[in-house]
Amino acid sequence: MSDKKNYGFTTTILHNDRQKGIEHGSLHKPIHTSVAFGYGDARQLASVFQGKEPGFRYGRQGNPTISALEDKVTKMEQGVGTICFATGMGAIGAVFQALLRAGDHMVSSSFLFGNTNSLWQTAAGQGVDVAFVDATDVANVEAALTPATRLVFVETIANPRTQVADLKRIGALCKARGILYVVDNTMTTPYLFRPKDVGAGLVVNALTKSIGGHGNALGGSLTDTGVYDWNQYPHIYENYKKAAPAQWGLAQIRAKGLRDFGASLAPEAAHHIAVGAETLALRMERTSSNALALARMLEADERVAAVYYPGLASHPQHGISGELFRSYGSLLSFELKDGIDCFDFLNRLKLAIPASNLGDTRTLIIPVAHTIFYEMGPVRRASMGIAESLIRVSVGIEDEADLLDDFRTALAGC
Ligand SMILES: *Cc1c(COP(=O)(O)O)cnc(C)c1O
Repeated sequence: MSDKKNYGFTTTILHNDRQKGIEHGSLHKPIHTSVAFGYGDARQLASVFQGKEPGFRYGRQGNPTISALEDKVTKMEQGVGTICFATGMGAIGAVFQALLRAGDHMVSSSFLFGNTNSLWQTAAGQGVDVAFVDATDVANVEAALTPATRLVFVETIANPRTQVADLKRIGALCKARGILYVVDNTMTTPYLFRPKDVGAGLVVNALTKSIGGHGNALGGSLTDTGVYDWNQYPHIYENYKKAAPAQWGLAQIRAKGLRDFGASLAPEAAHHIAVGAETLALRMERTSSNALALARMLEADERVAAVYYPGLASHPQHGISGELFRSYGSLLSFELKDGIDCFDFLNRLKLAIPASNLGDTRTLIIPVAHTIFYEMGPVRRASMGIAESLIRVSVGIEDEADLLDDFRTALAGC
């Protein structure tokens, strides 16, 4: 398989490992469990440590199995390099640890994954000023910028209320101001959307979710798209400026974010994720069509008060989503009418499983305010548009008729 030909998304992912030549002709990159890497020549060991030649040093900073997955994610995002982490939060935490210092300012969408929201509260406690804004309108982001703003952080489709950030205009704003633009692409995945196309410099993927796709491995990644000029970033240590500026960001993140904090991806997990990634496109097609059918059915039901799904014409960012995304993804949420007990409803479902993961092959469903957003309290929930009765669904790849039937039957009992 030649690097030159423009293969499609799935062909590229399926054959990516083989391009580098896998040991013994294996079709899957083997699971390398060795923590240390020995060298016959001690001088070579030294030169690997000094970054003068490529090679592996110690498992916390990477190994061949993880490196193969990093290449795969880089291909998916069409970036210049990727670093994998033990979890999606490990990846986002590394952005904070490696790139921000006391006195810095950052702008974040207020519509966020709950633990990212919690992490930004921690950052605020450590002297990083975080402005939370409604990022569905670039004007709010622009109004929050200060001379100390180092980065802007948004999710593509926000979990759980599905607000879609003003992705393209925020990208143009960041470019004009020389600000690093970080986009969490977990809900869209690189199959539905490439943040690079709207000017993102760093892309976060929680590999745990749709990329791994089977709920059997935790993982996260940061991809440098090559769009951001690290010459403009004031906090790169001299140590990480040895290579070309395009490498500076990842060099500092691998050392300060991964090596020093140690949220390293396990090789077994990397293998599960790499195998899952082979069918990402197929699963996203199926789950998007299932989700659209379910969203339409719920919206037409008199017992349902509201449905949030970017594929519905009633969604405030339906137009922009259609322009930017290949389809609308697996995440939807809805509210039942007042007086209907959401727990009784959930307990009547036979296929959809009450559980908190996203992007699994199975449909998972969760009452948001009582579980994943419980800790943040009613005031912050209200500011994020989360009603106490909100139910989140991560739509799986079940047969559409079975899935709709499950929800229809459960609603009929309300
Ligand atoms: C799940 C999730 C994360 C965190 O990923 P973990 O692997 O669970 O740590 C980050 N961002 C988004 C949008 C997520 O859905």
